[in-house]
Amino acid sequence: MLAFEIRDLHKTYGHEVHANDGLDFSIETGEVFGVLGPNGAGKSTLVQQMVGLSVPTSGEIRLRGQPIRPHDRRVRRLVGYLAQRPLALYDLRAREAVVATGRLRGLSRPEAEREADALLREIGLKDRQDRLVGNLSGGEHRLVGMATALIGSPPVLILDEPTNELDPVARRRVWDMLMRRRSEGTTIILVTHNVLEAERVVGRVAIMARGRIVAIGTPGELKERLHAQVRLEVALRDGVPQAEDWLAAGRQIGERRWSLTLGRDRLGEAFRRLADPATSAEIDDLRIASPSLEDVYLAYHGEEAREDAR
Ligand code: ADP
Repeated sequence: MLAFEIRDLHKTYGHEVHANDGLDFSIETGEVFGVLGPNGAGKSTLVQQMVGLSVPTSGEIRLRGQPIRPHDRRVRRLVGYLAQRPLALYDLRAREAVVATGRLRGLSRPEAEREADALLREIGLKDRQDRLVGNLSGGEHRLVGMATALIGSPPVLILDEPTNELDPVARRRVWDMLMRRRSEGTTIILVTHNVLEAERVVGRVAIMARGRIVAIGTPGELKERLHAQVRLEVALRDGVPQAEDWLAAGRQIGERRWSLTLGRDRLGEAFRRLADPATSAEIDDLRIASPSLEDVYLAYHGEEAREDAR
């Protein structure tokens, strides 16, 4: 069974803004599906319609075969949603917020309390469970949002930037929790800017730009389209004044690190340059890799930017 079917979905704000402009795709049950794209691409607009918080201008969204209606109760039971800013929780204490959401999903009070306690322990918030959500740090607030998304074990999770603002320990804990749900068959839809993080976990990904899907497939399939390219990562030694022209043509990825994407046919030329004693004396570290999902993302994003300029 398909978890979601999205058919010719349009969402327009006023006359001008086509936030979703003819989206058409489906998500299988049990998939981890990534939605990537720059700010303003239309990702949040899409997920808000998928959870019934916003009504499409035209087109249809089906959840497990049934069309979603505005403020559909079914969504509440079936979909755990972590919004980008889970505002509604501010006036509640952390544990109350999680228990209340469990009750909305149909758990009895004792069940909701038991599950909330287990989740808050798992997510590392047990010692802060009686604080007002509004007084928690940004990261802690998101963790409470995550616990509310997970309570009642909904079969589908839609998570908008789940690891934003989290420290590395919490981030790791959240990924472990999500991967455990994945192995139990939960469908996970992940909206993110973090391409590197997404690449490790998603089965398929849709790249959005300006309200449309510009590419969809497994990270492997999308990377295959860049198969004639290799990526060269170069780190310069301390004290080398600046990157020479040939590096500056690439993308700076760290204080002294550059990434260059080259056609395979230009690799020989690049190696001759690197083998030059003056150049090799400047280089601290060198790596050659296949294109990453980030390269794919930037390739499509670059095309969009060029289209904009025309
Ligand atoms: P993303 O989540 O990818 O950053 P959004 O879905 O938030 O993108 O926004 C897509 C476009 O729709 C943007 O141009 C944004 O300014 C516009 N937009 C989003 N919500 C509204 C709204 N409520 N009213 C008017 N325009 C909106």
